[in-house]
Amino acid sequence: MQQIIGEASVRKASDCYIYPRKFGYEISYRVHQKKIVAQQLGFTTGEKLILLFKYLAGMDVSERRKVQIGAASFQYQSGVCRIRLSSVSDYRNHEILVLRFLHSASQTERLQFLFPNQMIKVAEKVRAHGLYLFCGPTGAGKSTTMHHLAQKYSDRQIITIEDPVELEQETFLQLQVNDKIGLTYEKLVKVCLRSRPDLLIIGEIRDAETAKIAIRGALTGHLIFSTLHAMHAHGAIPRLKELGVPKEELRQCLKGVIYQRLIPLVCSRCGEKCQPFCPYLSRNHAVLFDTLFFEEVFKKNETGARWKRLLGKAWARGQITQKTFQNELLYEN
Ligand SMILES: [Zn+2]
Repeated sequence: MQQIIGEASVRKASDCYIYPRKFGYEISYRVHQKKIVAQQLGFTTGEKLILLFKYLAGMDVSERRKVQIGAASFQYQSGVCRIRLSSVSDYRNHEILVLRFLHSASQTERLQFLFPNQMIKVAEKVRAHGLYLFCGPTGAGKSTTMHHLAQKYSDRQIITIEDPVELEQETFLQLQVNDKIGLTYEKLVKVCLRSRPDLLIIGEIRDAETAKIAIRGALTGHLIFSTLHAMHAHGAIPRLKELGVPKEELRQCLKGVIYQRLIPLVCSRCGEKCQPFCPYLSRNHAVLFDTLFFEEVFKKNETGARWKRLLGKAWARGQITQKTFQNELLYEN
């Protein structure tokens, strides 16, 4: 177990899979969308390992068939690591365990930016009261960006509502959504607004109720960060309209949309294509932003062309390959 957590940490893996195969169990890691098979174990050893993880995460060890989700902090040689676990059985009644490694606060510092001045600009703009939305694909580091920005307010009251809490921050009050016992985003936001936080981070606006309460919070003078599913920066307003938010209210409180993606960089060691065990693998991605602030949010403008210019600049500087340039272009429709 120590070995798995240690290895995941060294490789900066996001997930570890303990899967039953024909011969026994296979342990593999996911590092930036790439799957790396690391080890094979017999069925008995694999089952013992899964049992131990489940026990330590407070999961029901006698339940093997149903899907179970747990989370726990595990100690290993070089620190403490927070892990979200999910288990279920396959058709042969062999258990499957997936570990998701949730990043600790210190890892936020490791976020790289394709153009560091973009992050400086974002940090300057997100001060006015109102709602700021962070958009982009899953795994693009939206939560990390929000936490990074929030650290600047660390002397004030910051509340986060997350599902689950992925980045532990000592100076924040962090709440976790639990739909099963009725702790929805909507309910938690209501409670939090009453305690007048200087900054409220809502993990995600994914339904009409959460959208409504987030807008109400922003309209009543709170500073709110949240993520929203949108394909590009100009996709945020149509998405909020879909969730039933009137445009007039948006005009009053939506202060910024920050779209981001994690762009693969050319490796200083391997060149265009990183070897699976390259020590720089985890450093080989950088965030690219497309941002809209204040009146820009409501103006029709060429987000695709702007994005292309920035990617072109990175390509010209040799930071990314031509293939990356082509793959990462944005299409507004
Ligand atoms: Zn490399």
